[in-house]
Amino acid sequence: MLTDFHTHIFPDKIADKTIKLLESNIREEYRPHKAELRGTLDALKQSMHENNVDISLVLPIATNVKQSTTINNFAASINGIDGIYSLGSLHPMQSDWESVLYDIKEKGLKGIKLHPEYQQFYIDSKESIQILKKCEEFDLITVLHSGKDIGIDPPVHCTPERLSHILDYVKGDKIVAAHLGGWKLWDDVEKYLVGTPIYFDTAFTLDFITDEQLLRIIKNHGSEKILHATDSPWEKQGRMAKHLSALPLSEEDCNNIFYKNAKKLLKIG
Ligand SMILES: [Zn+2]
Repeated sequence: MLTDFHTHIFPDKIADKTIKLLESNIREEYRPHKAELRGTLDALKQSMHENNVDISLVLPIATNVKQSTTINNFAASINGIDGIYSLGSLHPMQSDWESVLYDIKEKGLKGIKLHPEYQQFYIDSKESIQILKKCEEFDLITVLHSGKDIGIDPPVHCTPERLSHILDYVKGDKIVAAHLGGWKLWDDVEKYLVGTPIYFDTAFTLDFITDEQLLRIIKNHGSEKILHATDSPWEKQGRMAKHLSALPLSEEDCNNIFYKNAKKLLKIG
């Protein structure tokens, strides 16, 4: 069995435009980088079929304070059907974030995605911590974009060091730091986050981290807190699983990473 804990799709009407916009936003140093899929639900399902992915988790992002209702309605409409699950989203600066979070819970979505770069907030700010606390109270998963972003200039808003500060306020055992704890900041991940209760996903790390560091982080953090993920459409869905399978990891480690941890977090049988 294979789960992908980090994917993105958009409603059919805006998928094409959104993918093009995101591609054009990619910073000079990371170009050319193209999406592998068209960004639609059908394209993701086709990719899952071709790459033997059983479950994909979609992570929407509210990039302004007015989008969350539309986003969460779309999320609810695809959630739990044909191997697709979706989290919801809210913008930390929207004044009604608490009722939005309640609505997300009511809709049966399993958590939220926050993107400190696109949403421009520091992960250890007051606004952020009150949301993380409420998510913990509501037993919701929080997936965080962590580390640098290919489309946004520094300063980085969710560095491993800043992320470690939130553990003074929350347990963190339902928080997922995407991109193995902090994209392209993996030395600091090893310094500040390895060994904490926070989960890491493997999304969009394949071409940027050495096997040596990837393995060291998995071993030292514990495979029970690592989630196979790709960031599809930004990485081809089958590649990471193949790559991990070829590394010297035990069967138990692989099972944890490929599906057991995801099923536990999503509470699916
Ligand atoms: Zn992503």
